[in-house]
Amino acid sequence: MTVAAHSDFAESGADLELVGISKRFPGFTAIERLDLTIPAGSFFALLGPSGCGKTTTLRLVAGLEDPTEGKILLGGKDVTGLTPHRRPVNTVFQSYALFPHMSVLENVAFGLRRRRIGDAVGKAHEALKLVELDHVADRKPAQLSGGQQQRVALARAVVNRPALLLLDEPLGALDLKLRRQMQQELKQIQQEVGLTFLHVTHDQEEAMTMADTVAVMNQGRIEQMGAPEELYELPRTVFVANFLGQSNLFPVEVAGGTDQVIHTDFLGTRISVPRSRSERDSGAITVGVRPEKLTLSKHEPEADATRNVVGPGRVTDVSFIGVSTQYTVDLPGTGAVQVFAQNLQAGPTAALGDEVWLSWHVEHTFGLADDRLDTGALSSDLSTRAIASRAALAE
Ligand code: ATP
Repeated sequence: MTVAAHSDFAESGADLELVGISKRFPGFTAIERLDLTIPAGSFFALLGPSGCGKTTTLRLVAGLEDPTEGKILLGGKDVTGLTPHRRPVNTVFQSYALFPHMSVLENVAFGLRRRRIGDAVGKAHEALKLVELDHVADRKPAQLSGGQQQRVALARAVVNRPALLLLDEPLGALDLKLRRQMQQELKQIQQEVGLTFLHVTHDQEEAMTMADTVAVMNQGRIEQMGAPEELYELPRTVFVANFLGQSNLFPVEVAGGTDQVIHTDFLGTRISVPRSRSERDSGAITVGVRPEKLTLSKHEPEADATRNVVGPGRVTDVSFIGVSTQYTVDLPGTGAVQVFAQNLQAGPTAALGDEVWLSWHVEHTFGLADDRLDTGALSSDLSTRAIASRAALAE
């Protein structure tokens, strides 16, 4: 039965379409009218904080949950009513779930044998070669490292040639170095086999490293979706600006402009944003800039049509990270501003307590759709993120 279900679909991956999907649990809506198309052969990441609905989305696609509303199409075929094992979908979980009493080879061949597919052993060896583990085919899972076990789990999923491979935080149990290495390997494997990968993670760096397209999810909705660079360089909401990397946000009032640029007022200082990079062009808006785009100066730089300058503020933290130094500057009206400066010269450019100005290219500014944030919320949010980023670096 499963063989027939699998052979109905393309060998090389299929488009996944979610059409108007909602999922309501008693007293709680986890997914709200979600429309999403993932093209065949792409590596797609669903990224969001705990509880945003990403695992529920994955379980709906796998058939482990039924949607309250909507349809799921794979390769153009409606699979909404199909049981999990009849869907051409395999899942790789964070826990490898390998059979401990079987050899690596038997683990990988298991599904093929059960479905009575010819040359299960030959195909299992091929899949193990793909993950560069054919030389340990006779070992038991316990004789492998965590990273190797995860690669066996991947081989076991890929060998079935599913039209769609679901990855549920697959690298979460690995240490940081191994995780980075596996991210590159997973990406290479996906390109080699050409299957459609749907990857669920709360790790923004993991999503950006591997995926062609990242969808940032918040409270059961997709806030923004696009190539990693696009999301990073031009976030459209405060949530995306903060969840994907860090952002410095300024509550401003639109005060005029030209065809190309909107001029805003930040407590008497002009901050300009290109019109094409702003979601709104009137009233109270929020403008932002990424920390690595800022330059610190101990003397007030000249603002001109191409550069925004704010300040003075006071340096309240200097953290040497190796490749960069991260400064926190307390700026009246917005709170803590983060600056990442590459360590191109010996010694810091500013010290704790220094009075500094911050400047950046107008083209690096973005304007957000969200309503004005009160500065208290903004600065506490920024300091939370500063703590979170330090924790991540210390990991
Ligand atoms: P995490 O990264 O922590 O796994 P997530 O983004 O994957 O989070 P989901 O597991 O999809 O989040 O859960 C989304 C929301 O739906 C959560 O608030 C969760 O408590 C709720 N939820 C999930 N499953 C059920 C259930 N069976 N009954 C009731 N609520 C549920």
